[in-house]
Amino acid sequence: MSAPKRFPASLKPAAAPQRELLMPQRHLRQATADAARLARPSGTGLDSGAVRQRMVDRLRAEGKFDERVLAAMAAVPRHEFVDSALAAQAYEDTALPIGHGQTISKPSVVAHMLGLLFAGPAARQRGSLGRVLEIGTGCGYQAAVISLLARQLTSIERLQGLHDKAKLNLQRVALSRSPRLIWGDGRVGHAASGPFDSIIAAAGGEDIPSAWMEQLAPGGRLVAPTAAGGRGQVLVVLDHVVEAGISRWVRSEHEAVLFVPLKSGVV
Ligand code: SAH
Repeated sequence: MSAPKRFPASLKPAAAPQRELLMPQRHLRQATADAARLARPSGTGLDSGAVRQRMVDRLRAEGKFDERVLAAMAAVPRHEFVDSALAAQAYEDTALPIGHGQTISKPSVVAHMLGLLFAGPAARQRGSLGRVLEIGTGCGYQAAVISLLARQLTSIERLQGLHDKAKLNLQRVALSRSPRLIWGDGRVGHAASGPFDSIIAAAGGEDIPSAWMEQLAPGGRLVAPTAAGGRGQVLVVLDHVVEAGISRWVRSEHEAVLFVPLKSGVV
């Protein structure tokens, strides 16, 4: 959506009546009310659902995304997860800054990665992503989409500032099923909530941490941006296959991507 943001006429600066000079707190009250209106556009604006639907329709027109994922994306108000100054761009297919040097993933990348998870052996059979682990909660947008497609979601973020922000964002959008948010180093996964049918990383490392492979249930699938030598970063899909009681992990490499780095430790 590239139309300029329009503010109601009531937000235009009005000439202050004389008596208001004696009531400076009136301006503060007005400014607070205006800020709230600006931060949360409503009515026929970003809250209407139509603008979300247009984003989803544009993705659908590409003909390569899973309908269940598109339906979940149509239900999640992405503008609630970005800074109010960027809300007007929330339904464009673009990554946006979310603070702390991180970005919210592009809608088409979210749709593609969740589609890859749905195409895994267990998810295909079950018609759900099952028990999911997400590494890199960020602002919580993808977590909101996943929680509509999963039986249970655990999402880990290493930056406390973003972990807290995601918690607030997810409370505000009030999902029917809330994800479990963990502040921690996602490279060690979250054994207590596993094993997982689906694992998805929103940050790219040099390799796939062994903890993720160990916590991937038989029949489960993992999707993660990973370094591919001189070819930069690619999406790696790993399936946990069990045959005659023996586990093996089948790896395939997909297109080139550009995600923020998977870092260790918490901040
Ligand atoms: N899915 C997110 C995208 C966030 S960007 C969204 O919808 O907004 C990736 C996130 O991964 C960043 O917030 C970054 O801090 C986080 N990250 C990087 N390394 C991590 C690690 N080892 N454990 C947990 N989170 C990590």
